[in-house]
Amino acid sequence: MKRVLCLLLVLTPALLSAQGRARNVVLFLADAGGISTITAASLHATGQSRGLFIQRMPNIALSDTSTASQIVTDSAAGMTAIVTGHKTHNGVIAQGPDTVKGQTDGTALKTILEYAEQHGLATGFVTNDSMTGATPASLYAHANDRAKSAVIFQQAFAPRFGDGVDVMIGPGRAALTKSLAAVGSDLDTVAKGASRPIHASLAEVPADARRAIVLLESSAFDLEEAVLAAHRILSRHKKGYFLMVEGDTHTDNVRAGLDRMVALDTTIAKMSTVVGRDTLLLFTADHSFDLALRGGRLGAPLLEGLEAEQTLAREEKRRSIRLPTVRMDNGHTGEPVMVAAMGPGADRVRGYMLNTDIFHVMLRAFGWKEN
Ligand SMILES: [Zn+2]
Repeated sequence: MKRVLCLLLVLTPALLSAQGRARNVVLFLADAGGISTITAASLHATGQSRGLFIQRMPNIALSDTSTASQIVTDSAAGMTAIVTGHKTHNGVIAQGPDTVKGQTDGTALKTILEYAEQHGLATGFVTNDSMTGATPASLYAHANDRAKSAVIFQQAFAPRFGDGVDVMIGPGRAALTKSLAAVGSDLDTVAKGASRPIHASLAEVPADARRAIVLLESSAFDLEEAVLAAHRILSRHKKGYFLMVEGDTHTDNVRAGLDRMVALDTTIAKMSTVVGRDTLLLFTADHSFDLALRGGRLGAPLLEGLEAEQTLAREEKRRSIRLPTVRMDNGHTGEPVMVAAMGPGADRVRGYMLNTDIFHVMLRAFGWKEN
């Protein structure tokens, strides 16, 4: 009996906090990081099929990834579902299924970042894809076409709620400079108009900054360092924060994709030691990718022979990779992805969810109602 009581005393605070309210929410989004990619990354990095931190998070569920109209999603419709609670069509950024892609705006869908701004919280994102890529764009912009990157970027400085995204860290400087020029604008004009400097590196951000925009040249930066910097800045705001971290884990280049999944995983593990018990950590993917595990021995190098196979694939003008261990056919796929969670509100991550349910997990963790 005594033992049971002790166990209850130990377990109760953990259970209460898992159901309780979160001050902060961090959403980690592995772009194209399906279950096969997670398993392959684990085997690649540790030799074990369950060696990653995300595989050992306390609450795990599956999530459907379909759009309002299609079986296989892109990042725009996928992220829109996750951060607004509404499905839309491929290519559409945080607008409803009444949107005609590239032609007519649909109903603007309120995002979890906009809810956070409305409630006076600090908000931010870090991405190693692109600052105006479909994933972060679905948090701060509303556009009928993900390709309209100048329009998307300008919307970051014309927020519908609060004072807009506080921390933006990601690459895409050259491409964005070009798309701004095409609409007769440039980075300086946007920065001056919003009275916000657009830094070119993390090192340029003042030590006591409460907001920061870091537009990098390249995606080859230290994700963990950038996420820790974002966390430091956002933590200076007393009311709490919402942070999204996107790791591009497309495995069209198998080794690079798996390495980026491992880097995202170690970043999540690190963040779990840095944030307080008042922070909900969520991991999911917007969609899966056509990567399959076909054979091999546990503990043996997973990607042996990859470079020779890539050379052969180039010669044969095929986009697929065939190793005895791994097959990759270059494209998104429609099967469910993993959702993992820890911290207050993590208990709501269970069962076979819809991608739109993840929005409600975040909203309820903050203690807010949809409006
Ligand atoms: Zn994606």
